[in-house]
Amino acid sequence: MDDLTFRHQSEFHLKSTFWLSVTAGTLILPFAFYHLTHQHVGIGIGAMITSLSLYLVAWGCYRKTYKTIYTFIWLTPFTTLFVAYLTNLIGITGTYWCYSTLILYYFMMSERQAWISNIIFALINVPLVWHLFETHEAIRFSVTFSLVSAYSAIFLHIIAKQYSELHKQAITDQLTGLYNRTLLKDSLVQAINQANRSNTAFTLIIMDVDHFKKINDELGHEIGDHVLIQLGVFLKGFLRDSDKVFRIGGEEFLILLYNTDEANSIGIAEKIRKGIENLSLIPGRPVTVSIGVAGLSSVRDWKHWMKTCDKNLYEAKNSGRNRVVDCKG
Ligand code: GH3
Ligand code: MG
Ligand code: MG
Repeated sequence: MDDLTFRHQSEFHLKSTFWLSVTAGTLILPFAFYHLTHQHVGIGIGAMITSLSLYLVAWGCYRKTYKTIYTFIWLTPFTTLFVAYLTNLIGITGTYWCYSTLILYYFMMSERQAWISNIIFALINVPLVWHLFETHEAIRFSVTFSLVSAYSAIFLHIIAKQYSELHKQAITDQLTGLYNRTLLKDSLVQAINQANRSNTAFTLIIMDVDHFKKINDELGHEIGDHVLIQLGVFLKGFLRDSDKVFRIGGEEFLILLYNTDEANSIGIAEKIRKGIENLSLIPGRPVTVSIGVAGLSSVRDWKHWMKTCDKNLYEAKNSGRNRVVDCKG
């Protein structure tokens, strides 16, 4: 999973964690007040700490600074001990909280952290139940607890897999397997931010197939598709994993070169242009491309960057096609 896919996936995770934390934090609050004022102050304090911790998690999600490790190192041990304390104090009804705690684990942490939290929780609370209650109660608790653990683990695993598959489909161009436009803006903005932070050089290359309409008209749409697919294969094979390739229009491709300045990118664009010319994608008929190149200028605005690159491509087309034009013309 690359960094962009991961970022989008974690945004989905942040949203679900936000709403779960707010809901759980709010529902626990009345118990906290009740116990603080009427019954067990210890339970009241524990419930209040749980509720505030959940609100802090929600706040972290809202500000996009939440990390699952916070929950893992704080809420897992705290809730494990607090539920044990509750069960010890108020009896079997304390074990009811085991189920919702488990479900929270699976939604608020990574699968691995949730698994480990589940095991830690079980290692403390299941023996305690066997120690405190009748065998028939302990058996029922153990079975229902195991079922909820298994349901949560399986359910979350399926959802995470489906989400990742759907997301992959949403960002992928079905014909070439390259990125489609979905992540384009985010990728450019991310590059600009990184360039501002660490002075990393980024360069854009926009490439358009010459007279593609003629290929379609004279040889058929299928041959046209074949050319696009092969261009995708060539670009993926030619570029490094850190570079990103998008199909942004019918026969237009955009390449974001990582850690490469404009001077070096012109050489790379030339190699791409020559490489495609030599591919002989259609026997007896040259397939060529025109290319615009634009380094990340001092303006550092993604729309302006695209526009500059597009302008260079337009010039490459106007000055005869099958050539590379950069900002210096
Ligand atoms: P230029 O050299 O100026 O770029 O001319 P061109 O013919 O390449 O450009 P134009 O924009 O006139 O035509 C692009 C064509 O690409 C028109 C459209 O039918 C075709 N096209 C767009 N998407 C696809 C696709 O997915 N498959 C195929 N086979 N053709 C496509
Ligand atoms: Mg074209
Ligand atoms: Mg075009």
